[in-house]
Amino acid sequence: MKNYKINTKCVQGGYTPGNGEPRQIPIVQSTTFKYDTSEDMGKLFDLEAEGYFYTRLQNPTNDFVAAKIAELEGGTAAMLTSSGQAANFFALFNICEAGSHIVASSTIYGGTFNLISVTMAKMGIDVTFISPDCSEEELNAVFQENTRAVFGETIANPALTVLDIEKFAKAAHSHGVPLIIDNTFPTPVNCRPIEWGADIVTHSTTKYMDGHGAAVGGAIVDSGKFDWMKYPDKFPGLCTPDESYHGVTYAERFGKEGAFITKCTTQLMRDLGCIQSPQHAFYLNLGLESLHVRMPRHVENGQAVAEFLEKHPQVSYVNYSGLPSNKYYELAKKYLPNGGCGVVSFELKGGRAAAETFMKNLKLAAIETHVADARTCCLNPATSTHRQMTDQQLQEAGVPAGLIRMSCGLEDKEDLIADLQQALDAIA
Ligand SMILES: *Cc1c(COP(=O)(O)O)cnc(C)c1O
Repeated sequence: MKNYKINTKCVQGGYTPGNGEPRQIPIVQSTTFKYDTSEDMGKLFDLEAEGYFYTRLQNPTNDFVAAKIAELEGGTAAMLTSSGQAANFFALFNICEAGSHIVASSTIYGGTFNLISVTMAKMGIDVTFISPDCSEEELNAVFQENTRAVFGETIANPALTVLDIEKFAKAAHSHGVPLIIDNTFPTPVNCRPIEWGADIVTHSTTKYMDGHGAAVGGAIVDSGKFDWMKYPDKFPGLCTPDESYHGVTYAERFGKEGAFITKCTTQLMRDLGCIQSPQHAFYLNLGLESLHVRMPRHVENGQAVAEFLEKHPQVSYVNYSGLPSNKYYELAKKYLPNGGCGVVSFELKGGRAAAETFMKNLKLAAIETHVADARTCCLNPATSTHRQMTDQQLQEAGVPAGLIRMSCGLEDKEDLIADLQQALDAIA
């Protein structure tokens, strides 16, 4: 599949049936796998033979889908997790431990921000958040001797900032650590961070990859490019024997291409068990089969809605990187030449009251905390995800009370605009 275009990889990547085998990926609905001799099984436990023994660690259905995602991102290995949260936690915790430090973009998804700043802090892992718009000097200045990873989102949810991936990759590499990029919003159809220097890519597959709001899931992809053995003191988990796994040294046995995902599977998945169910992996694959067809439509609708809103007198500003007025327009042209995604945010001039009226009058767009599926949805953070904050606090956090986040689905753009028009008319 390697030499095919991304459209072909979306449809046929990851799984090639043999003669007489099922055309569609089989759902291997089995927790366990049978062997003829204890010796056969022993080889699996020693990582000397490839195969399956227990679905908490690996399952063929999941592996077919993970292989497709690896092909889409241009990586060498991948794994599925139960959620995007689990993917980001595993990607970081695979190389961080008590005493480590992470550099992260300050505009990342709230769930990941909380994971790193609260939950991982309790594990003794420290973080410095930095604006994605920082200069190279500012970025280099936040690294510490114990920094083990740099983390950012290609397009941040919901801030919609666009990351200068090359700038972050350069800084990470000059300090001997990998860059981890959460590529949930653009998907590999619109951006492949590995091509710009990212070492590890993560996804909440719950969003566009699934695309139909059907199954929560996550994925981790390794570029196979980071040379762990060059920094054995920084990454002892990969570069020294794992006594909990028969003394295997992952970076030696599996090389740059396989060490990260193998360790993540044999240690973190074994001990924490955030596996995706094979049934969910099957749903995810159905979504992936049309990802390349759906993403351009999400972008087309997002662009049309953003252009309509920008001209509307009730709207004070629109945040969408496809608008020439947007701060990230130039960066987006570089990293997202075919557009970013279908998520647009905008502020209503009338603040909280206007937002309430607007939301109440939407007919096609549903009120949901979700984003990135086939059906358009809207959210007013001030009355939902951020409802504990005062108008003053909201303003300071860059989430003013009149802010609306809209995830443009796959409906006809004229219907979406008409729905917005009538809801905006209701305000005046
Ligand atoms: C939703 C989301 C997550 C979390 O994923 P879940 O599948 O909900 O656990 C992480 N990162 C980004 C950018 C997201 O949009």
